Amino acid sequence: MHWWEREQENSMEEQEIYKQAAESWGIPLQRLMVIEECAELIHNIAKYFRGRCDDVDIMHEMVDVQLMINQMRAVIGREDEWNEYFAYKLDRVERRLKGEEQCRLINLKNQG
Ligand SMILES: [Mg+2]
Repeated sequence: MHWWEREQENSMEEQEIYKQAAESWGIPLQRLMVIEECAELIHNIAKYFRGRCDDVDIMHEMVDVQLMINQMRAVIGREDEWNEYFAYKLDRVERRLKGEEQCRLINLKNQG
């Protein structure tokens, strides 16, 4: 099952977990955790290009980042704005794939 197919009932339980985590450890500390988990993900992606970690290592950090994003999302609220902006961004990706919007690409192999 994909994450977007999960039951709404489970999501409600998750929302409560995220809110409790933020209340227990405090929102400022959780914002720092977002930075820390993003840094760990960035680190693993960089290591991947040097053959020092694999997709599973990256996936584990992606889960950590996703958990922190979900926590911040529960704290911030504004779900309607989130959904609207997410739809806008997804639509932009689709337009770029169809060539309806320009997207700058670089070739990593040719970078000095
Ligand atoms: Mg981590």
